[in-house]
Amino acid sequence: MDPQVPRAAGVPEDPEVPGILHLDMDAFFASVEIRDDPSLRGLPVVVGGAGARGVVAAASYPARERGIRSAMPMATARRLAPDLVIVPGRMERYREISRQVMDLLRTVVADVEQISVDEAFLDARPARRLFGPPEEIAGLLRRRIRDDLGLPSSVGGSVSRAVAKIASARAKPDGMLIVPADRTAAFLAPLPVSVISGIGPTAVAALERIGVRTVGDVRDIPASTLTRAIGPQAVQVMRLADGTDRTGLGRRVRDKSLGTERTWDEDLTDPQEVRRRITMMADDVARQLRRSGFSARTVVLKLRSPDGTTITRSATLDQPTSSGERLREHVVALWERERARMPRVRLAGVRATHLAAAGPGGEPRELTGRSAGWQDLETAMDRARDRFGAASLARGSTLRNDETVRSEGSVRRDGASRPGTDGRRPGTDGRRGSHFQG
Ligand SMILES: [Mg+2]
Repeated sequence: MDPQVPRAAGVPEDPEVPGILHLDMDAFFASVEIRDDPSLRGLPVVVGGAGARGVVAAASYPARERGIRSAMPMATARRLAPDLVIVPGRMERYREISRQVMDLLRTVVADVEQISVDEAFLDARPARRLFGPPEEIAGLLRRRIRDDLGLPSSVGGSVSRAVAKIASARAKPDGMLIVPADRTAAFLAPLPVSVISGIGPTAVAALERIGVRTVGDVRDIPASTLTRAIGPQAVQVMRLADGTDRTGLGRRVRDKSLGTERTWDEDLTDPQEVRRRITMMADDVARQLRRSGFSARTVVLKLRSPDGTTITRSATLDQPTSSGERLREHVVALWERERARMPRVRLAGVRATHLAAAGPGGEPRELTGRSAGWQDLETAMDRARDRFGAASLARGSTLRNDETVRSEGSVRRDGASRPGTDGRRPGTDGRRGSHFQG
């Protein structure tokens, strides 16, 4: 791809660029205290309660060198370091600095998902046109956090959020580790399975019983054996071991459903017409899903008659999807079941709910069967819409008799911009850095 050409908004980024970054502040609370009181630098500093039942909330690296860890009883920490400096926590101060860190990240990368007071996932791929490859962006962020805020941080980068988080932990302290897509499996192979988020002591023990200690061991075990040992988590563990996980950032809670709704001035009485309109709505919702990187597990059809009677019906899909074809099948089936009760339609709406972040192809290929082809076609149609304008393309089954079909390799509606007639509203539409080379 020519890097000079800006990509249209909504076109998925190259999933093979290791631009999913996990930025984690180093010993955050302790580092803030040292920044605010430089006389503490180089000392074994811990933040936490000094009383008999106090616990270490954060430990500076000099403290960690003595074996002191977070969540350790303060009495133990004191034994390990008789010269221990105990600072009571100042949560309000840490939150204030946390906001400054997140604001700084957003000056470089638009897509920032804060996951705790001192950690965030970032999708740096769109920023690379301005700032260069992910390692440049990671270096820039670390430098600015150091220069502007006086704090150390570490960054991991990968094609997957899970791997980025593992990489940042291994980059600490004050480091950076970017794992290229084709090195992912080799990077993870020697690590204990416990590095995988969600694999706790119970799962570790279950895996050990089937001979799995490292992530690499997973590749020698049949999927069925793995599933028997740890349940549905096995799918994600296998993807990580194979280096095929491409899970990016999660989305905000308010984006838990996507939909479109329309009220008509005149009642719709022709079932074919209702069917055509909800088909277009399903396409529109699927396009919104693909643009925002989601798949939906449930599709909801809403219908209202002129007297205000409202029917809401939903269908649960066997697999999450962002395919208009699959959403259409379900909303049309819902309509067929309800049409006798709703001879006149004044309002119709289609909504996708139970959303999950989609894989790079919109949904996992191995699970989709024939719909994978639709996914490809629909992604191509999205690109064409981005280039030639919304509503320039529609599926054949949404065409009416009075609309012209031209064959230019695709179906085109005649008079593409006729607002109000097509069921679509117009316009809705560092210092220590390394590459893993194992
Ligand atoms: Mg941290």
